[in-house]
Amino acid sequence: MSRLVMKFGGTSVADLDRIRRVGRLVAAEVAAGHKVAVVVSAMAGKTNELVAWTDGAGPAINGLPISDDEYDVVVASGEQVTAGLLAIALRNVGVNARSWMGWQIPIIADDAHGRARIDDVLPDKLIAALDSGQVAVIAGFQGVTRDDRIATLGRGGSDTSAVAIAAAIKAVRCDIYTDVDGVYTTDPRIESRARRLPKISYEEMLEMASLGAKVLQTRSVELAMSQNVPVRVLSSFVEPGEAPGQGTIVCDEEEIMEKRIVSGVAYSRDEAKISLFGLPDHPGVSSEIFGALADANVNVDMIVQSHARTADTANMEFTVGKRDAARTVEIIRAAQRRIGFDDVQVNEDVSKVSVIGVGMRSHTGVAKTMFGALAEKGVNIQVISTSEIKISVLIDAAYTELAVRALHAAYGLDKL
Ligand code: ADP
Ligand code: ASP
Ligand code: MG
Repeated sequence: MSRLVMKFGGTSVADLDRIRRVGRLVAAEVAAGHKVAVVVSAMAGKTNELVAWTDGAGPAINGLPISDDEYDVVVASGEQVTAGLLAIALRNVGVNARSWMGWQIPIIADDAHGRARIDDVLPDKLIAALDSGQVAVIAGFQGVTRDDRIATLGRGGSDTSAVAIAAAIKAVRCDIYTDVDGVYTTDPRIESRARRLPKISYEEMLEMASLGAKVLQTRSVELAMSQNVPVRVLSSFVEPGEAPGQGTIVCDEEEIMEKRIVSGVAYSRDEAKISLFGLPDHPGVSSEIFGALADANVNVDMIVQSHARTADTANMEFTVGKRDAARTVEIIRAAQRRIGFDDVQVNEDVSKVSVIGVGMRSHTGVAKTMFGALAEKGVNIQVISTSEIKISVLIDAAYTELAVRALHAAYGLDKL
């Protein structure tokens, strides 16, 4: 009998009826002969509510309260509730099941509270339970640090819990059940003509996730790719047996016969643009700026530098996550005398829109199509960045949806 991991996100366990339906989906896999480990998220909206409580309880820095170890104690609790409820629902339909918290397995995480990484999963107890014929219902999003504190894995982290468990117990597959029936060419909430992709490569999925498509947490894709875990994304809004064969398989590029130049369009509203004016134009300035930000753990994304009109000075623009914007400005201001620039400004009304596709490696003209489509809609590009398989542009946030739809059409993604 093979082992299977089934993960259910917040909307899939949003109320007791949905939890009962999840129970039926799990029972069907058990009946089909699988040893099942289920990973659950908190009920939809619960984690936001818990985060808001911790904000209310004390001053926050960068969106995380100062007591970030206690922040984790609070926000991890939502998953405990759904794990217990699903175990009850399973028992009520005659399935032997029990709940597991991260520390009981244990899932060992580092101590970067609020955004911890999984260091290790010790699967022996879990495997023994599965082998005894019991379904394991695991609270996602949480692990335990080496000094026995609860740590959470960053928003959307239950996906990563699921893939880590799948790797540790050598599951045949990790099924991620959510509120859409697969990975689409773009967010189906923004573009109704978005198409489901039957398959997507790990690499493309990694770019899509890190560029804003929140259907899978970025780290879960990294982990699936490095540990070779086959992942399938599918809808939980079905009864067992309905819609067989639906969903999206995330797999190696070689397993995908049909080659596309562009597979998807992603967007992120979580960007802030920092502009520095009148920088001295000599070696060492960038190193000074980005060194200070790296020391403070601020992730910098897109960067452009240009000559200013005045001789010997330059301007620079770069992006950081919105929640790091205020801190970035503080750090830069604190170094103003040392760096010697005139002014720093921050703009949070920006968004990043990206096109992704492994076919870009071998095809030219992808950028031309992108810039042409945006120009035609009058969308101004503020910053550009590229990698081997993606092109991203920073634009005024008001044009996000327009840009996503224009690019989706320009690459013929609605006709796949
Ligand atoms: P869950 O609660 O199940 O973890 P999420 O809300 O984290 O679900 O992720 C699912 C959502 O991701 C969808 O409702 C959809 O709006 C969004 N999404 C963004 N980009 C895509 C995409 N390319 N394909 C599918 N869904 C996407
Ligand atoms: N409940 C957590 C969140 O909302 C983890 C998850 O849903 O994956 O971020
Ligand atoms: Mg999610």
